[in-house]
Amino acid sequence: NEEILRKPDWMRIKLPPSSQKIEHIKSTLRKNKLHSVCEEASCPNLAECFNHGTATFMIMGAICTRRCPFCDVAHGRPLALDPDEPRKLAQTIKEMNLRYVVITSVDRDDLRDGGAQHFAECIREIREHSPQTRIEILTPDFRGRMEQALEVFRETPPDVFNHNLETAPRMYRLARPGADYKWSLELLRRIKEMHPDVPTKSGLMMGLGETNEEIVEVLKDLREHGVNMLTLGQYLQPSRHHLPVKRYVPPAEFDQLKEVAMELGFSHAACGPFVRSSYHADLQAKGEEVK
Ligand code: SF4
Ligand code: SF4
Repeated sequence: NEEILRKPDWMRIKLPPSSQKIEHIKSTLRKNKLHSVCEEASCPNLAECFNHGTATFMIMGAICTRRCPFCDVAHGRPLALDPDEPRKLAQTIKEMNLRYVVITSVDRDDLRDGGAQHFAECIREIREHSPQTRIEILTPDFRGRMEQALEVFRETPPDVFNHNLETAPRMYRLARPGADYKWSLELLRRIKEMHPDVPTKSGLMMGLGETNEEIVEVLKDLREHGVNMLTLGQYLQPSRHHLPVKRYVPPAEFDQLKEVAMELGFSHAACGPFVRSSYHADLQAKGEEVK
């Protein structure tokens, strides 16, 4: 039995008391039967993000065709797509008055285009309902379906394209069994090539057993593939059935890695114990605009 690492002091934060705005957002979500990653992953940043008018939605259901042992999403055979989801999502975003949204999904290896078309429909509907809202998509790798997915995004690019490498290549067998490091890098490169003005972004978790040197190598690979923005956060074990936390990376090391990232030429790097893929996404994108 692997001993569970005790959380260091820097990992303990108190959630601020829930505000009216947060309650409003939560009840709007309930009413429209939509899922936010913020709530479902019990994200420690929820209050902060909702108060900023930012949220992350999960589309195409809550059942994934893959099973990554760090991830808390259920796996199995997904349900058919809800063709009305893009409209419902767009209406909810309008009602919630969100300024910046992140749209993500489970992996849908069962769909011919991996769900790219559904992402695009969501983008179109949101733009129609809330032209001011900026849209970041955090996509699966579209493994085996890259051409179909690229074709879709050629017509309908998001404001920010995000795809997470999650960890160093040595850790893939353990942490991302259905994925391929090079494939993911290639997806990011091709999107950038197609839409040079759309910022690309990727995220990594720390504490799975990788070394900081390996992370630096990944950062270099990302820059070589044109990726503009980075998120680097601490992995937290969702339950005892998931991969254990091997190490809690101290804040000072995150700061050092951020310095390395900026030297490598990322336009924005959010690095810290609580950073998530969508953390301060709105502020990051703003930084991108003034670049
Ligand atoms: Fe939601 Fe992302 Fe903010 Fe967490 S960091 S609350 S998942 S938007
Ligand atoms: Fe979780 Fe994504 Fe892996 Fe599916 S592909 S199990 S949603 S990390």
